[in-house]
Amino acid sequence: MQQALSRPAKAAPFAAPSDWPVLSPAYDPWDPIRSLQQHGRHELTSVELTVTHLCNMRCEHCAVGDGLTMTEAPHLPLDLLFRRLDEVRHLETISITGGEPTFRLETVKNVILPVLKYARERGIRSQLNSNVTLDFERYELIAPYLDVMHISFNYTQAEDFHQVGFARTGRSVRLETTSKLYERMIDNARRLSEGGLFVSAESMINYRTHERIADIHRLIIEMGCLRHEVHPMYPSSFASSLPVITRRQMMDAVKTLLDVRDPGIWMLFGTLPFFACSEEEEERRLVSRLRSEPNVTVRNDPDGRNRVNVNMFSGDVYVTDFASVPPFGNIREEKLDDVFAKWREHPMQQAINCHCPAAGCCGPNLLVQDMYYRDVDFMTRRALP
Ligand code: SF4
Repeated sequence: MQQALSRPAKAAPFAAPSDWPVLSPAYDPWDPIRSLQQHGRHELTSVELTVTHLCNMRCEHCAVGDGLTMTEAPHLPLDLLFRRLDEVRHLETISITGGEPTFRLETVKNVILPVLKYARERGIRSQLNSNVTLDFERYELIAPYLDVMHISFNYTQAEDFHQVGFARTGRSVRLETTSKLYERMIDNARRLSEGGLFVSAESMINYRTHERIADIHRLIIEMGCLRHEVHPMYPSSFASSLPVITRRQMMDAVKTLLDVRDPGIWMLFGTLPFFACSEEEEERRLVSRLRSEPNVTVRNDPDGRNRVNVNMFSGDVYVTDFASVPPFGNIREEKLDDVFAKWREHPMQQAINCHCPAAGCCGPNLLVQDMYYRDVDFMTRRALP
């Protein structure tokens, strides 16, 4: 249904329209369990757009790092994209990703803003994945039309940011230079939060962060973020050369967070390798704790469940923005619902297409299965009490 493009109030210029449902642990339209419950099977409700392969950073863990470039081709015409989005019957959310989507002001004005306005007019929730290290003015342009500003935050100080964020630049970058970006990132996140924007900071649990996750959580709260999103690091792209921590270390980091977290902030865990069908009692206890703690959610992974990724240069459609699964179609030739229907029947999707309603779980994603459960047939498992 078309909705009027309402502008937020002056006191909170970046807040979502006041008559829209508030994003909360009880309402997370990105979680594929909602569409599965509603439609009785996985449906396409979410489209992610890769709008750039440029970035001012080269994080050591970047899941799309191998695809980053120094120059890029023109974008596909937006009227083609809007036609394809119009055809998605159950569309509820759009995510914009990169690279750093705001790297070029031209992309902000000519692609991101029109897409966000389209989403607002259609009553669709939007998310932008950004490092927010660039000048505030470009975020200020976007924020009035955006629902979620999603940032990465894996640091306790400027030195961490320097080591993590510029590890793969291929040249030496001075600490003084990156410290300025670090300060600007924190300042931008704070200003956007103060303006009423829902800022969600994502940390990954990896060899650097697993023992510092409590301090990282505290800094995220100080920036005014409304949500702390936590995922384990999986070895895709740049991250594949980094040391891997054990499941035990990961479990300990999750427990620490649950013990020390600010209970007023929404904690969203995703792509965890812990399931209610585990034979290990301790793992099941953790899963049950995650489900019962207030303001804590475990989001089922959208990739390939209710979401596809569209490359805004080639038109290729992926089931994940990590390039390990080849494209499934192209928006120049096909409707997105049709591409998704093909994927839904694919043996790779069928192999992990389990669903235990009592556990609110619809199975592991492809990365989790590949890393921890290569020999496990999830289709024969069931959540245990
Ligand atoms: S849905 Fe799959 S992964 Fe989740 S508890 Fe059930 S069998 Fe295990």
